[in-house]
Amino acid sequence: MVLDLTPLLDDRVKEIPVEKEVPLDVLFRGGDELQFQQPVSLRGRLYRIEEDVVFFSGDLEVSLTTACYRCLEPVRVEETYDFDEVVYAPGKEEDYDLIMEPEGQEIDLRTFTENVLDLKLPLRFLCHEDCKGLCPVCGANLNTSECNCNTERIDPRFAMLKNLLKDSNS
Ligand SMILES: [Zn+2]
Ligand SMILES: [Zn+2]
Repeated sequence: MVLDLTPLLDDRVKEIPVEKEVPLDVLFRGGDELQFQQPVSLRGRLYRIEEDVVFFSGDLEVSLTTACYRCLEPVRVEETYDFDEVVYAPGKEEDYDLIMEPEGQEIDLRTFTENVLDLKLPLRFLCHEDCKGLCPVCGANLNTSECNCNTERIDPRFAMLKNLLKDSNS
């Protein structure tokens, strides 16, 4: 899925509109697997801001499933992320923070999409903002069940101190 920037760089066009469905199956983020339910919709336009500097502005629409960071239940994510990135600036890489390496005068839209997602997706997904997670003792999902585990853990050093005090008082 390669896009040729030549018409833009030769000044034959003022901008290149993009509207593509980018197929991505799985992306890994942290230890989590993101599974795309449908291709990512990539919409935007490429234009020059200087002689040899090309910007790509637009948005990405994603539909994916992953696991809740706290309770591990499946989470469905339907989001649109805006982007505004430099994709081409030969010799000016120091001035512009390029989101990807162009190949000659071409950019790979799949790599671009993956890199934007890497930048924009949250690090962790939750089923609900106030997800109670799993009981650290028995593993019960505390959103849907209760357990009788004592999760107030006593710091072992504190427990030892308590015993010492008890001994000295007797
Ligand atoms: Zn959850
Ligand atoms: Zn428990």
